[in-house]
Amino acid sequence: MDDVLTGLLKPKSIAVIGASNTPGKIGHTVVKNIIDSGYKGGIYPVNPSAEEILGLKVYKSVLDIPEPVDAATITVPAKYVIDVTKECGKKGVKGLIVITSGFSEVGETELEKELVEIAHQYGMRVLGPNVVGTLSNSDSMNASFAPFLPLNGSASLVSQSGALLIAMDAITYTRRIGFDKLVSIGNMSDVNFADMVSWLDEDENTNCITLYIEGLKDGRRFIEESAKASKPIVILKAGVSEHGAAAAASHTGSLAGAQHIYGAAFKQAGAIQSTDLSDLFDCTLALSLEPPMKGDNLLIITNGGGVGVLATDSAEKAGIPMTFAPESVQEELKKHMPSFGSAKNPVDLTGMAGNDWYHDSVKFSFAHEWVEGLVILYCETAITNPMEIAKALHQAIKETGITDKPVTVSFVGGERSNKAMQWLVENGIPAYNAPDLAVKAMGTLREYASLETMKSEPFQENPSADKNKAKEIIAKVRADSRISLTEIESKTIFEAYGLPVVKTFLATSEDHAVEKAEEIGYPVVLKIVSPDILHKSDAGGVKVDIQDEASVREAYKAILKNAKEYKADADIHGVVIQQMAPWATETIIGSVNDPTFGSTIMFGLGGIFVEVLKDVTFRVAPISEAEAASMLDEIRGAPILDGVRGEAPRDKKELAKTLAKYAFMITDLSDEISESDANPVIVYEEGKGVTIVDARIILKKK
Ligand code: ADP
Ligand code: MG
Repeated sequence: MDDVLTGLLKPKSIAVIGASNTPGKIGHTVVKNIIDSGYKGGIYPVNPSAEEILGLKVYKSVLDIPEPVDAATITVPAKYVIDVTKECGKKGVKGLIVITSGFSEVGETELEKELVEIAHQYGMRVLGPNVVGTLSNSDSMNASFAPFLPLNGSASLVSQSGALLIAMDAITYTRRIGFDKLVSIGNMSDVNFADMVSWLDEDENTNCITLYIEGLKDGRRFIEESAKASKPIVILKAGVSEHGAAAAASHTGSLAGAQHIYGAAFKQAGAIQSTDLSDLFDCTLALSLEPPMKGDNLLIITNGGGVGVLATDSAEKAGIPMTFAPESVQEELKKHMPSFGSAKNPVDLTGMAGNDWYHDSVKFSFAHEWVEGLVILYCETAITNPMEIAKALHQAIKETGITDKPVTVSFVGGERSNKAMQWLVENGIPAYNAPDLAVKAMGTLREYASLETMKSEPFQENPSADKNKAKEIIAKVRADSRISLTEIESKTIFEAYGLPVVKTFLATSEDHAVEKAEEIGYPVVLKIVSPDILHKSDAGGVKVDIQDEASVREAYKAILKNAKEYKADADIHGVVIQQMAPWATETIIGSVNDPTFGSTIMFGLGGIFVEVLKDVTFRVAPISEAEAASMLDEIRGAPILDGVRGEAPRDKKELAKTLAKYAFMITDLSDEISESDANPVIVYEEGKGVTIVDARIILKKK
């Protein structure tokens, strides 16, 4: 564990610089909160013109404090922060919690930089500036101006919004979801989300990491630290940040919205992305109390047919389609229900179900090896008492002694059901006030398990890639003062990275074109080669299915004529002659350089699917083959690759390999490549591979 960060987040002593005797001032509130929260370490108010604050001795400077100081909470105006930082450095303080605002959030970027530079000179870390502070139940410490410690529990929250942190602090009591720490991360001038994830992953009092993120600073490090973490991470991402899509010269560029890429990055980080604030709490509740759901066998037990049906619908939506329980399970369950009940799945104990039936069926099911996740639903009835039902099922679960599979609960009813659910949550069982939420929570636990297996796959290196060849071509293009490569230049680089491109030759005369066509064998395709013509078909620069010599000559002339008409001063390198690839399923692979995450790769079906439906998916590169395979499955048009209406399934294996190789290429050349695409990539039947017929690379401006 990082010692300095530990000093900042679990300090043995705290100085409050800018402490005040005036109630209502932040410098007063913070001292009062530290005292009121029962903090056991040293508390040292600092103020040059006060003697005593709230019964504590006040020091003129942090340098006058006779004991060591781990953390300093800074509340003085921005213009004094630099001086105070230097004093803290001399004192040997480990970390600064800079509550003061008036830094980069109002354009004072230089002042913020100076603050961090000085802090680092002394080996200190900076939380903030512009933070609420930090709160920790396990340290009985409220070093913030939020009014009280959160409801005690085992999740920890890091929030980029101070206002939201204070609001969530209060919600922990109404939602009965417990947190150990709340950390306000503010402007993230130094300590960022990646630092917090890696520290909290080792914090013994945290077992679920909950993040409210507006924007990340170092996206790649965040992915790395999160992927390494062994605890669940759940994120609420707000806002769609400014993105380089505006200047997009390729398809991929125009499709790469920040949401797409953040969503992909979170998946690769192994983190669950929640949809809204309420969902963030729902996910946190499940992930902080329950283990992941390791397989798809979900059993639902209910006393009402209706909620059972609702829950079944939700299960499908949550990605855990339900199947009937095996006969042996059904036989046993029938013993705990009347003859008109149903033992299939959902298991309907009927409205006659009392404490014992719930207890016995839950105990049996939860212990049964077929069951990998259990959702227990209950509708209030005239003959039962919700609290007794809650206790019965809690007892049943405890008696099984099982802790490695998850259970979630929903009681549908009034005040008595709410009280019973509160009791369940306090006793470690996540309960939700609607059946679909209990099922959705189980879906979250299932997703967590799937993400865990995915992130352990290593990405594909490509040792046979010829980077020098690629560099050579790029150097030539740069020497030409160009940033866009022609199709044949792009294809040569693709080939150097082992990508399957169609055989393509450049011809500079009609005779030359004929010679190459005969060498390749008919039919062939002819296309214009000009760095000034990016979209070749638009310029009448593509002639396909050329069958003989006469047609080659005709096409050659036509292409040059069309190109000149399209753009009179276009720099024309010649015409490419290439193999005519047989037609099959058309897909697109592309890449863009994201300001937060660097090289990202995109996959989608080609043609109208990408133009109209924008049916594409992204990942931060590089990726493993398994990750690539999961991209193929997550587009809406995925069934097309599996073969619809009697068509043979497509070669997804080769396609995934190609995607992974492509991702390696853009990563290896990330200093150079800004955007690229392979459009189309034709995918054949299983075992017959894929072929790239068009290639485009745009370099970074230098
Ligand atoms: P651009 O995208 O610049 O207009 P392409 O090289 O993609 O040019 O060609 C346009 C279309 O022509 C492709 O989408 C594809 O349908 C077809 N095509 C191009 N090259 C080939 C080829 N070698 N084999 C088969 N079809 C091709
Ligand atoms: Mg194309």
